[in-house]
Amino acid sequence: MSQGDGFLPYPKSFATQAIHHAQEPEQWDSMAVVSPLVTSTTFKQFGPADFKSYEYSRSGNPTRNVLEQVLAKLDNGKYGLAFSSGLGATTALLGLLNSGEHLISGNDIYGGTNRLFNKVAVKFGIETTLVDLSDIRNFEKNIKKNTKLVWIETPTNPTMQVVDIKAVSEIAKKHNLILVVDNTFLTSYLLRPLELGADIVSYSLTKYMNGHSDVVMGALVTSNDQLYEKMKFLQNSMGIVPSPFDCYQVNRGLKTLALRMEKHKENSLLVAKYLENHPKVEKVLHPGLPSHPQHETFKKQTCGHSGTFSFYLKGNIETSKAFLTSLKMFTLAESLGGYESLVELPSVMTHASVPPELRKELGISDTLIRLSVGLEEADDLIADLEQAFRGL
Ligand SMILES: *Cc1c(COP(=O)(O)O)cnc(C)c1O
Repeated sequence: MSQGDGFLPYPKSFATQAIHHAQEPEQWDSMAVVSPLVTSTTFKQFGPADFKSYEYSRSGNPTRNVLEQVLAKLDNGKYGLAFSSGLGATTALLGLLNSGEHLISGNDIYGGTNRLFNKVAVKFGIETTLVDLSDIRNFEKNIKKNTKLVWIETPTNPTMQVVDIKAVSEIAKKHNLILVVDNTFLTSYLLRPLELGADIVSYSLTKYMNGHSDVVMGALVTSNDQLYEKMKFLQNSMGIVPSPFDCYQVNRGLKTLALRMEKHKENSLLVAKYLENHPKVEKVLHPGLPSHPQHETFKKQTCGHSGTFSFYLKGNIETSKAFLTSLKMFTLAESLGGYESLVELPSVMTHASVPPELRKELGISDTLIRLSVGLEEADDLIADLEQAFRGL
């Protein structure tokens, strides 16, 4: 589907793949059109160590297997692996590194990922350097002899800077680094990092991919045979697997991903344009707007932006609190990517675990508000913002 607005075209047959790939009814004796939910933890063997496809549900489960294949297909990858949460997937990635090795991460990342790298991985001898990768000149000079992996989020969270994936991948390849892109914010519908040179795509499926705010889950996708074998080994050995029921739910959510993302994109642009013209707003950070400093880079690598973006209110922490508590339709809550609109204050909520100096450097101030624009009517959302502004 061509968009004609300078973004990449939407991926071909995306919704078709989400609905049909690996879900042929003929594979089941029952000919079930909806892939069955198999809750059994164990599977009968013909003879000792002689089994059909599955032996034990941590190492493999039919419902999870369907989801993993769909996830791989949607990213144009060979292999998908589902984990008990987004951070569970990141934990498995850390298992690719040995004690004494080093990773480079973008500096403006999900707060929980920052905490995992700097508070947990470090205990196992894995060191992290946080680098502003939205300026590619910062990358190469931070690579050390023991650097093994580079982690990026684009757009970054919550300040919405854009990282040029192709540029990072060229340098990563030169130095033999594994490039991982956390694609939680955009999903495989709007960005396909493997096509831009990434080795692994990482997800919190909790957000847009499931889209219904009722499952916590993560995933890794790759086309690299060796990395897949290692990550599959880690998924089973570390035991960070999701339940079959949750896999069933996420697979159902993926059926409407294309539709949902188009609506999130449309709604978030309408809300962002409204905010950009509001006298009580200092600045809007939305990579889909021409005012965004890296809008051109963003257009080059994506099909558009999702419903999540940030803006600065004029005022102070009290203004933010008054604004956030007077919203009626936007729910004050962490997370993003569901059908319902959410709002939050990163400095004291999602990014409270980021050290204060880094928050300051990144611009995560007490007036930076993050929105997850949902699938409600845009007019209703704007009316809600308007009534909250009037009370300030
Ligand atoms: C939520 C989130 C995560 C962590 O995922 P969980 O499913 O909550 O463990 C990682 N990265 C990004 C960008 C996120 O938004």
